[in-house]
Order: sequence, then structure tokens, then C-alpha cells
Amino acid sequence: MAQSDVKIFWIKITATAEDEIRAWMRENRSGYYLTHPDDEKMIQLHQVECDHAGGPESTLPLANYKKVCSPYPQDLIEWTQERFSKEPRRCHRRICNP
Ligand SMILES: [Zn+2]
Repeated sequence: MAQSDVKIFWIKITATAEDEIRAWMRENRSGYYLTHPDDEKMIQLHQVECDHAGGPESTLPLANYKKVCSPYPQDLIEWTQERFSKEPRRCHRRICNP
């Protein structure tokens, strides 16, 4: 667990972000990600397989909106605390529940 494990995927940063986030999710199926990472009120923690985004095999785009990913939820909690001095909300979907 380290901040160096944190990866940011967003089509506005890297043209290949869509392929990269799918590859990362396939390698890290027990990993985690943040949605709305720039919005203090909306930032939320999910598991990779959460149906919020649908996991790496989703037919919907995954990188159109910025996502911050890590194999370890604590990395993403710390990342959020450093930016906003609070923890991210946890997704409450039954399949997710990080
Ligand atoms: Zn979720």
C-alpha cells in the first residue's frame, strides 16, 4: 500500500485512458476507485466490480469521467483526506459496499 499505487485514468489526460483503465481493472479485480475525485461533495469510493461503472467488461465508457484507482482502499481514503480533509463517501450498492 502506497500512494505510488494510485493511478488516474481520464480520457482528457490520456487518449488511451479507456484501454488503460480496462487493463488496470482486469489486473486488479479486487481493487477500488473513486468517482467524482475533484468534487468534495460527490467523491465516492467503489469496488472495481461495482455495477456503478460495471467493471472492466462494461460496454459503457469507463474513462470519460476521471477515475482514481488503487488496489488498496486505504490509498484512496488517504488521497481524499489530503485533498479535502475528509473521507470519501462509500458506495452503498449491495454488490459494492467498500
Ligand atoms: Zn459502487
